[in-house]
Amino acid sequence: MKFPSEPFKIKVVEPIRRTTHEERDRLLREAGYNLFHVPAQSVYVDLLTDSGTSAMSDDQWAGLMLGDESYAGSKNYYHLEETVRSIFGYKHVIPTHQGRMAENLLFSTIVKSGMCIPNNIHVDTTRANVEHQGAQALDVVIKEAYDPHCELPFKGNMDLVRLEEAINRVGRNRIPLVMLTITNNSGGGQPVSMDNIRQTRALLNRYRIPLFFDACRFAENCFFVKERELGYASKSILDIARELFSYGDGCIMSAKKDGLVNIGGFLSLNNDQWAQGFPTYGGLAGRDLEAMARGLHEVLDEDYLSFRVGQVRYLGELLDQAGVPILKPIGGHAVYLNAKEFLPHIQQAQFPAQALVAALYREYGIRGVEIGTVMFGKLDSATGRTIHPELEMVRLAIPRRVYTNMQITYVAESIIELYRWRERIHGLALTYEAPVLRHFTARFKELEEKPLVQQAAS
Ligand SMILES: *Cc1c(COP(=O)(O)O)cnc(C)c1O
Repeated sequence: MKFPSEPFKIKVVEPIRRTTHEERDRLLREAGYNLFHVPAQSVYVDLLTDSGTSAMSDDQWAGLMLGDESYAGSKNYYHLEETVRSIFGYKHVIPTHQGRMAENLLFSTIVKSGMCIPNNIHVDTTRANVEHQGAQALDVVIKEAYDPHCELPFKGNMDLVRLEEAINRVGRNRIPLVMLTITNNSGGGQPVSMDNIRQTRALLNRYRIPLFFDACRFAENCFFVKERELGYASKSILDIARELFSYGDGCIMSAKKDGLVNIGGFLSLNNDQWAQGFPTYGGLAGRDLEAMARGLHEVLDEDYLSFRVGQVRYLGELLDQAGVPILKPIGGHAVYLNAKEFLPHIQQAQFPAQALVAALYREYGIRGVEIGTVMFGKLDSATGRTIHPELEMVRLAIPRRVYTNMQITYVAESIIELYRWRERIHGLALTYEAPVLRHFTARFKELEEKPLVQQAAS
């Protein structure tokens, strides 16, 4: 079946509310056109993120009742440890409350000022944690990753030529480890091939540099390997995961993604000396550890994964067939609208992706997130002008097991309708921005005048 139907039935429902156009218009103005400030209660389909938004299974909820809240030696910790070892294969398992804490433990222990951490593409939190140590966060993904039209099966792959150049330029002693993000979140949820991982390992062996995975969406990555890579079609997801992690020395994990929980994460690694430096028991209750252990088993289920990846693909293909410009190929956890092509009449200085996010909410009650000039635009201090990022996208991240295919159909039909009258969407102007992470707090106003024609030089 091309788009598998839901491999679950619904036992508990959370009502969601349809709001009126008038109400959404008012909320949008009050929020300064920033969807981070719109109450979730007033959103009909919320595609802001797939992080921590998963629906847990009845087995996970039952596991919460079996939480052992002993100060030391909780049985749920042992269950999690055994589960992580059986999938990831690393010796030490250190639970954390989310992924960024695992990053912080790892990087604050082994990264020193002047060092460099290569990755296919760093996500914002690993980049911030590396830079916080005074080190450089270097992106070494294949160059095709930056072309929204280039369709490759493994567009998250490491560029091995550039990685070796970087090692020679920076020096082996200033690279304490190399990372691979699976799937490559910031590059559109694109997978990394087993072959590329094997070759990365072989290259790093020559320089004796450890390899760590940013493993948040590892099961989705393994599913793509099974589907697309020669020799893996008849292997189980568990066997693929075990092989994949065998090429590494450790991983960081946000269980808010492929752990199918609302909070949790861990750091897992082989190095005894590094592991000794981590003074934590995670800050999670025993019941949270239990839900995480159970989620890690469930996420390997192939029926679940083919529905999960299939649902994202279903949305992407409905849009693509209707001519809506999206990032290709469709990734594992989200569909990305190409706002530059969706709204060619709005120049980048007028925030086309943010304007599209605002229109999607006002017209249909759907919440996406801007990944473009608001998030990544930088001020050039020499000229006082904004440097715009190459890509101007709206990410529609699909929470796991939360929305039915009918709700996803609603999203597709809404966007297709919006695309038909796209000329009527106006650009925005900034009215407030904070000095750092402005996308969370920025405010805008709508430019009512006729949109300007895109200028060739902008
Ligand atoms: C979400 C994410 C993180 C950070 O995890 P949190 O649980 O949000 O702290 C790190 N890396 C990747 C690839 C992620 O998607």
